[in-house]
Amino acid sequence: MRPSALDPLFASVSTLSGVGPKVSVLIGGLVAPPGAGGVAKVRDLLFHMPSGAIDRRRREKIASAPEGAIVTLEVRIDHYQFPSREARNQPTRVIAQDSSGEIALTYFRAQSQWLEKLFPLGETLLVSGKVDRFNGRASMVHPDFVGSAEDAASLPLVEPVYPMTGGLSPKVLRRGIASALERLPELPEWIEPGVLSRASFPPFRAALESVHKPQDPGDLDSTKPAYRRLAYDEFLASQLALALSRRRMKQEAGRPLGTDGTLRARAEAALPFRLTPGQSEALSEIFADMARSERMVRLLQGDVGAGKTVVALLAMAAAKESGAQSALLAPTEILARQHFAGLSRYCDAAGLSIALLTGRDSGKTRDGKLAAIVNGDVDIIVGTHALFQEDVIYRDLGLVVVDEQHRFGVEQRLSLTRKGNAPDLLVMTATPIPRTLVLAAFGDMDVSRLHGKPAGRKPITTVAVSFDRLEEVVARVGRAIDEGEKLYWVCPLVEETETSDLTAAEERAEVLRQFFGDRVGLVHGRMTGPEKDAAMADFKSGRTRIIVATTVIEVGVDVPDASIIVIEHAERFGLSQLHQLRGRVGRGDKPSSCVLLYRAPLGETAKARLAVMRETEDGFRIAEEDLKLRGEGDLLGTRQSGMQTFRIANLEAHADLMEIARDDARLLIATDPDLKSARGEAVRALLYLFGKDDAIKLLRAG
Ligand code: ADP
Ligand code: MG
Repeated sequence: MRPSALDPLFASVSTLSGVGPKVSVLIGGLVAPPGAGGVAKVRDLLFHMPSGAIDRRRREKIASAPEGAIVTLEVRIDHYQFPSREARNQPTRVIAQDSSGEIALTYFRAQSQWLEKLFPLGETLLVSGKVDRFNGRASMVHPDFVGSAEDAASLPLVEPVYPMTGGLSPKVLRRGIASALERLPELPEWIEPGVLSRASFPPFRAALESVHKPQDPGDLDSTKPAYRRLAYDEFLASQLALALSRRRMKQEAGRPLGTDGTLRARAEAALPFRLTPGQSEALSEIFADMARSERMVRLLQGDVGAGKTVVALLAMAAAKESGAQSALLAPTEILARQHFAGLSRYCDAAGLSIALLTGRDSGKTRDGKLAAIVNGDVDIIVGTHALFQEDVIYRDLGLVVVDEQHRFGVEQRLSLTRKGNAPDLLVMTATPIPRTLVLAAFGDMDVSRLHGKPAGRKPITTVAVSFDRLEEVVARVGRAIDEGEKLYWVCPLVEETETSDLTAAEERAEVLRQFFGDRVGLVHGRMTGPEKDAAMADFKSGRTRIIVATTVIEVGVDVPDASIIVIEHAERFGLSQLHQLRGRVGRGDKPSSCVLLYRAPLGETAKARLAVMRETEDGFRIAEEDLKLRGEGDLLGTRQSGMQTFRIANLEAHADLMEIARDDARLLIATDPDLKSARGEAVRALLYLFGKDDAIKLLRAG
């Protein structure tokens, strides 16, 4: 149950003074987390971070106040200038003075009574706002603050500025946040004392206060201890949730797999090449995990073409040594087929039997395959989600390999391993992602990084070409296919709709056909499975030489002798996506090239992206640059994945904190797995605060 101390923070914002029904709807739209149905809690207001601050500490004389600056003036009210009857839309001016000169406090559509009450003649008042000058006359339009000299003490001299929404006034939002702060209880510290003192973090409450009631604009800088503390809290909550899920997975005792090494050696001998040092290293980590009775929960991160599938093959061979079956899950039908074809080549020689199971299997074929799976006649089952349907029963599932699935959340990961008897889990991702993001998304897993590429790979020459030179590109494409080359031509999403995406590819294919006739094929996401397969088979066999594609080819299509890729509207793709696409070529023994066809003029970010692409092929470096260039938002396709984004923390600015949070979370869960200690109790409150209380359910179930 939620600690009752938190109750005030989980009340609706409508319970705050000054927040009526209308305002609470507006606030909900602004700060309610996804899934909350637009209803904001007090907590959500507190986590709404200012984007900057107005500094009103600057006291000036009228004559010397700089144009455009926000200043506070002490002035005596002299007289009013009301607009004449004929000029109703003219403003009212309240003329005020100090020893240095005169200023007009300007109001549009203000009631005269209200103004006369606010500005009694002869009174000395403080006014705060932006100073304008016109023909040497100073004015201040709608001052932000008007009050008596005695009010000065209560004037917030440094005022936070928040991301806003239409219809909500900054004043009302600030008032709401101020009364939310009053509800904030004193909570026991959940941060480990060593971390707290090393990072000079203020207590939680003080941190929120200093961000929302800054004494200095610098107080709400994301690099200052107060802000960093809150970012750390958010990371810690998410790392604790991952650590609990990890513990949950690890807790179900697996069993030692692959203890004698025979089959694995046979499989390795069946390969027509030697393992790269990177592959050997990753495999030794995987084998060590598998040999333990604790279950494996490991991520294998490797660039496109780094040779992950081979690593998976040997791991599956190791599972068979202990009599266990393996399932390899691919995200798409095309990929499942490709894996099946690729692995089948080696399975015979390695003494492994393999089957393919996808959504397309039905009737007798499907029944036959299911029987083989339940009888244990197959060792490796490759497929799509069909692998996890209820009627698929494994005789002895020991290892689940998930390919290319960086889009999985923690719960899905758990559900994948419900089949079988606590099978080992190996997730392979071809999207190199920065370390911080790995921790954010896969903090529950151990990570192997597959560095380097198989020997003999030729580098890919990358050029950026403006669309004006399309003719030249087409001419070059013609020469290349005459010489027997194969080429991908990728068209992006033109608008936000699938249809226009499709149109772009279809139109491009049409244009290219005018030059190259039926040597041009087309593949896109709207085609049926068999249509896609046929298009890809034509391309593979060389019947077509150019395949125009939408981004369906992004993930994992393998045509080793394709040596050129043209990416149209390259400026619209993110770096990681460009890198994935480029990875479609350079897989064979021929030198390859990548043409980034862009429409000028290029924005700064697009320019930087294309430059990075020309400079490097190192996926891990590209991933780091990508994070710098566009922030964490899109990197993992977070929107599709439902992976949470952080509301306070910024993955780039607070990268260093993530690692500390991970270590701290794992250590705490190792020493206090049921969160029973005093700190464990405090941490429960943290989990609730950041909406990670699902993790507490894991705790109870275990
Ligand atoms: P990934 O899954 O990481 O994208 P793959 O496992 O599909 O990469 O490997 C890409 C290609 O490289 C395949 O054709 C594979 O047979 C080949 N390959 C894998 N490992 C090696 C190696 N050690 N030496 C040479 N070629 C390799
Ligand atoms: Mg692969």
